[in-house]
Amino acid sequence: MKLYSTNNTAHQVAFQDAVFNSMPQDKGLYMPIEIARLPDSFFTELPQFTLPEIAFQVARHLLQDAIPEADLKALVEDAINFPAPVIKLDENVYVLELFHGPSLAFKDFGARFMSRVMSYFLQPDEKQLDVLVATSGDTGGAVALGFLGVPNTRVTILYPKGKVSQIQELQLTTNGQNIRALEIDGTFDDCQALVKQAFTDAELNAQFRLTSANSINIARLIPQTFYYFNAYAQLLHEGKSKVVFAVPSGNFGNIGAGLLAWKMGLPVQQFIAATNANDTVPAFLKSGVYEPKASVQTIANAMDVGNPSNWMRIADLFKEDLAQLNHLMTGYSYTDEETRKAMQQVFDQYNYVVCPHTAIAWRALQDWQQTHLDAAGVFLSTAHPCKFPDVFPESIASHIQVPEQVKTLEAQQKQMVSLSNNFEGFRNYLLSNQ
Ligand SMILES: *Cc1c(COP(=O)(O)O)cnc(C)c1O
Repeated sequence: MKLYSTNNTAHQVAFQDAVFNSMPQDKGLYMPIEIARLPDSFFTELPQFTLPEIAFQVARHLLQDAIPEADLKALVEDAINFPAPVIKLDENVYVLELFHGPSLAFKDFGARFMSRVMSYFLQPDEKQLDVLVATSGDTGGAVALGFLGVPNTRVTILYPKGKVSQIQELQLTTNGQNIRALEIDGTFDDCQALVKQAFTDAELNAQFRLTSANSINIARLIPQTFYYFNAYAQLLHEGKSKVVFAVPSGNFGNIGAGLLAWKMGLPVQQFIAATNANDTVPAFLKSGVYEPKASVQTIANAMDVGNPSNWMRIADLFKEDLAQLNHLMTGYSYTDEETRKAMQQVFDQYNYVVCPHTAIAWRALQDWQQTHLDAAGVFLSTAHPCKFPDVFPESIASHIQVPEQVKTLEAQQKQMVSLSNNFEGFRNYLLSNQ
């Protein structure tokens, strides 16, 4: 498998290089050179496949010979070891639950796959791998739990002070071992900027073997394609073959993976990009002008992104035919008030509790279905509602079933280091804590 930089198609690397370097020096993003359609036989057999089987088939197709088949199969089975069920709520309304992994969010798919790919490529005698990761809440927990105890690796998590939920903070700060947490006095965009700057800092790169675990890493994106195929397979069982996906979007990795699956032949009618007030992409889809903004804080905080880093990949996928993107993708954005109302409506109508991110996707699907009645609508549930207890009124909160793993976390001691959003301070911390 070969990948190129979206900023310079002549700059080409092997999968292993793209995994460890995350981002090309030219600040583009890595994309597979070849994104071929899966063979017809795959689609014929799809309804019979399990999720790990789909994962293996899709990974092998994309990765080609980057990892030998037997190793890839074992890796995939270890990484994708929890289900992604599609639940019917109403006629043509389905929810794809992506929160059954260890951190209770869809980011477990990316983080578990990536950590295992990195560990697979890591030679025992090599310099320790230092993973830097900025999180708006869910990434950090998934990455921490993905890498916890993986030999010869260390993870440094940067999270915005006071902007992650209690459970998210516990998932970030109670791991110990090879995981350290930095609480940054700033926004998620500040955290992301610090990490990005670290990767371009000559001295840090001389001292450490740095890598990123953000959704810009191609090894995070690939496993997110798996559950789109798996969801489609489940809908075929329901007799549905015309499918639309509504995706709660922040950095646009999740929906980007859906588009990648589409490129590999998954017959999706429409992708609905659902955002909170950070509406850079929905605004672009309306006006044709792409205008990144500073992020604003919302109750769906994992989507508080004003300049979605994966947009470059989506633009690259459709560089030859932007009109096709406009045809395939619709955007909606919602205020916090609309989000709260959607959470209430889902509960009232289906006796089902959705987190605020998921509520935004449900609402977008509703709005889209006003004028499109015939397709099965699937909205992606990106996190378990128990991760965001403060946003629910008591009447809903009391219906959330808290999983066992959360009860265990609550008994543990948080450990973190507090820093400002200033790069020098972050740099000094890294250099003086080798
Ligand atoms: C990260 C996250 C999102 C946004 O996903 P992107 O891939 O960044 O668009 C949505 N919901 C939840 C719960 C998340 O953690």
